[in-house]
Amino acid sequence: MRRKIVAANWKMNLTFPQAKELALRLNTWVKIHKPVAEVFIAPTHLYLEQLNKDLRNSSITVISQNVSAMPDGAYTGDVSAQQLLSVGTKISIVGHSERRAYHHEVNKYIGKKITHLYENGMSPILCVGEKLEDRQAGKHFDVVKEQVSVALERQSNENLRDNLIIAYEPVWAIGTGRNAAPDQAQEMHAFIRKIIGDHHGLQVAHNTTILYGGSVNAGNASDMFDQFDIDGALVGGASLNFDDFTTIISARK
Ligand code: PEP
Repeated sequence: MRRKIVAANWKMNLTFPQAKELALRLNTWVKIHKPVAEVFIAPTHLYLEQLNKDLRNSSITVISQNVSAMPDGAYTGDVSAQQLLSVGTKISIVGHSERRAYHHEVNKYIGKKITHLYENGMSPILCVGEKLEDRQAGKHFDVVKEQVSVALERQSNENLRDNLIIAYEPVWAIGTGRNAAPDQAQEMHAFIRKIIGDHHGLQVAHNTTILYGGSVNAGNASDMFDQFDIDGALVGGASLNFDDFTTIISARK
């Protein structure tokens, strides 16, 4: 089923006391205001266990920013799907453009991460999105098609049908203050849904939740959410500010 989700990607920001304070404030706000959208927060791995405990039985889901492509073993500094699950985390972002850029992650490798998540009964938020030069060269649809199809090619339709979230995040819009126009984002979201339909069938396509990410803020969220194929948002910078983030959640009617 398509879900309405507003997800916070806190990246490598916030000390533990700051993260805990923001998480608890958000939880109180969500309880009182009961927004339509599901609310996710992705803190650093270090805080997952404690925040999962603090937010147990709450309306906020604590998710991971990344997961290893390997099941276990000698991979210093990495965190496996099974380890995430053992501290109560069931969803992980994979393929974020910062991982692709700074850690050279490629589509097949991102696909392996997704495989490990599903094997452990967990699920991915797969990030895709073109660079500015791809868009300027008119290659943005080709780039995104490759990212989606290669990362999902080994996954079963059953897993995808029940638990697939994609975040379309054009790289030129991330952290730049320059968001995609709502119709540009809608065009790409509809395209992504079509690729999924072509490769995995209409039921999977109808069930896939597609978030937009890239400079979403309190001022532009509502226009984004008005688009038919935009189910929610993955928010970076603005998710660190309580007022901005709660305004974005409220906009997801
Ligand atoms: C992100 O990095 O996932 C993101 C969407 O960042 P920002 O909102 O800051 O552009």
